[in-house]
Amino acid sequence: MSTIEIIDLHVSIEEKEILKGVNLVIHSGEIHAIMGPNGTGKSTLSQAIMGHPSYTVTQGQILLDGEDVTEMAVDERARAGLFLAMQYPSEITGVTNAEFMRAAINSRLDDDHKMSVMNFIRKLDKNMEVLNMPEEMAERYLNEGFSGGEKKRNEILQLMMIEPKFAILDEIDSGLDIDALQVVSTGLNSMRSDDFGVLIITHYQRLLNYIEPTFVHIMMDGAIVKSGDASLSKRLEAEGYRGIRDELGLDIEIDE
Ligand code: ADP
Ligand code: MG
Repeated sequence: MSTIEIIDLHVSIEEKEILKGVNLVIHSGEIHAIMGPNGTGKSTLSQAIMGHPSYTVTQGQILLDGEDVTEMAVDERARAGLFLAMQYPSEITGVTNAEFMRAAINSRLDDDHKMSVMNFIRKLDKNMEVLNMPEEMAERYLNEGFSGGEKKRNEILQLMMIEPKFAILDEIDSGLDIDALQVVSTGLNSMRSDDFGVLIITHYQRLLNYIEPTFVHIMMDGAIVKSGDASLSKRLEAEGYRGIRDELGLDIEIDE
């Protein structure tokens, strides 16, 4: 079993404090959802966990299986088993989707245990079928010319290929129609296991109709203000973020 511990995390962007003390523990086998209004720091949290250099940790720690990864570079964190599906995936010309995934898989394996092309293709075909993706998408340059929905599906394909210990999915549901949402959920649910933990970041409750989270956290103004089980996201659907804010007596402007 693996664990991520986020302890009193403060993060600034260009001197402005965005995260103001986030505490969160995720064990493999669990699915956590973080929900919150726009501009509350959800993407900042995901980038800070992954180690994006523009996000400065000013206080606190991120531990992976007890090891402090707070100062590690992005690629070191990826090799340690972290994976981030970004809200806005980048397009990379010159590297095909398949090349990228194979390199990412092999970067986590010893020289003696690299994945053969044959095994890679077998696994790729299987996962692309689950995600209902046309074969040619593997040979296209990474995300180049992909529609918003294709990019999101492709993030899940990468996840299924790379099989990290922990995945952070930042608004993987945004821009997906119901069919694509179901496909993405099927892919994610197929990965549920005791060796895999997920942090789903989302503005809306609808994805959580397909993927039952173990815990739901509400983030407002750079901190987790309330945690609960799956019923919390249903409450949110009924009452909106303002309902939670008023219950907690927080003095925060909310742009739903
Ligand atoms: P969320 O994902 O919850 O919508 P973000 O983490 O993207 O929120 O943003 C939190 C705050 O940080 C917002 O006020 C946003 O304007 C600011 N912010 C995010 N990224 C940058 C950036 N690269 N430069 C300056 N400010 C940023
Ligand atoms: Mg965001």
